[in-house]
Amino acid sequence: MAEPKFRAPKGTRDILPPESARRRALVEVFADRASRSGFGEVVSPMFEDMGVFKRVGESTDIVTKEMFDLYDKGDPPQHLALRPELTASICRAFAEHRPVPPWKVWYEGPQFRYEQPQAGRYRQFTQVGVELLGTDDPQADVDVIALGAGFFSSVGLSRVRLLINSLGDPQCRPAYMEALKSYLESRGSDLSPQSQVTLERNPLRVLDSKRRADQPIIDSAPLMVDFLSAESAEHFETVRSGLDALGIEFDISPRLVRGLDYYTRTTFEFAAESLESSQNAVGGGGRYDGLVEDLGGPPTPGIGFALGIDRILMACDSEQVFPQPPPALDVFVVDVTGGPHALSVCDALRGRGLGADRAYGGRSMKAQMKLADRSGAPFAVIIGEDEVASGEVTLRDMRGDSGQRRVPLAALAGEIRHLLSPKQER
Ligand code: ATP
Ligand code: MG
Repeated sequence: MAEPKFRAPKGTRDILPPESARRRALVEVFADRASRSGFGEVVSPMFEDMGVFKRVGESTDIVTKEMFDLYDKGDPPQHLALRPELTASICRAFAEHRPVPPWKVWYEGPQFRYEQPQAGRYRQFTQVGVELLGTDDPQADVDVIALGAGFFSSVGLSRVRLLINSLGDPQCRPAYMEALKSYLESRGSDLSPQSQVTLERNPLRVLDSKRRADQPIIDSAPLMVDFLSAESAEHFETVRSGLDALGIEFDISPRLVRGLDYYTRTTFEFAAESLESSQNAVGGGGRYDGLVEDLGGPPTPGIGFALGIDRILMACDSEQVFPQPPPALDVFVVDVTGGPHALSVCDALRGRGLGADRAYGGRSMKAQMKLADRSGAPFAVIIGEDEVASGEVTLRDMRGDSGQRRVPLAALAGEIRHLLSPKQER
């Protein structure tokens, strides 16, 4: 094949059928679970005022390096950014529309981050997620985490670990930050040069470093859990006992800080053990009790998570679960009279809720049968001159051994429905 003139931009890719059907099915499993837990869908813009995302954290990679930002053609031009995540957008929407809390919403859609592309790390990727705004009840944390864990099990993934931590609250965090800062400064010259810079901006972020030089230092760093206020400690305890009561396994990960600055108290991550460790986070989330207020809304606690659909599908591949959904076609219509009858028959079948397709270009019976076979449809309808003359069609069972027979055209849809019903739930 000749070199294409254009390719999808670096870090992006086309998801083609049939993989796209699998991706959609995965999103639908999530949508179903979220709706059954009382979450409604929010569809928000793919770009926002840059200020909305600044609050994700001036010291985070997302804001400093990964933002796709642009100026529009207004006068003065507005500084916009393609969304790198949805929590900030949802909080902006909450502050704008002031729905009655608790507000439980879910979302799905592309996110954009200017990252170094690798397997499972793209510049455009899809997330699904939920946000629950307006309560700091720890049972909300449990409910939200359980929704994520339940989604992974319903997809069939068994090797996804849940890691949880508490990042404390504005009362207890400063003392911890002080302790962490002085500890890291005392080890300053042993830290990687990148982490020395990070330390200046936000000591917490150093704990997120994956660089080998930093690991021994991180391993003996003071832990937030030892500095929690009585309220935060109790909140964390209630979250853990709630997860225990639901039989949801988790590991406490006292160094889990997550890549965003707005988190308070509960934070968590889902890690797929079947994926390479640098790209094994299949989801993460936590509490962000100050974010809505920071975006100009009333003080409103919130908790949520986002899951990476692209990585979840990779984990499904390695665990060999969540196969391609069956084809949506019930019938392939073979018309050997040149094609016009296939038009009306397909149209009628589709109108009756069946999946129907056909060939184009007046191909031979043999060629059309081959396409019928490849389509995966369990039935073929064959239309020849005789059939047209008698007002019938030939209905062929492509899978079972019930062979083929003539069916009056008017009875065709009913007959196919009848044949399908015992085999598959529709
Ligand atoms: P990582 O540590 O892998 O960079 P993150 O902490 O930046 O992940 P979050 O901001 O928590 O990720 O986003 C939630 C989920 O979105 C991640 O767990 C991951 O599954 C997915 N995700 C994040 N960045 C990417 C990306 N560039 N490509 C594909 N999926 C991504
Ligand atoms: Mg990241």
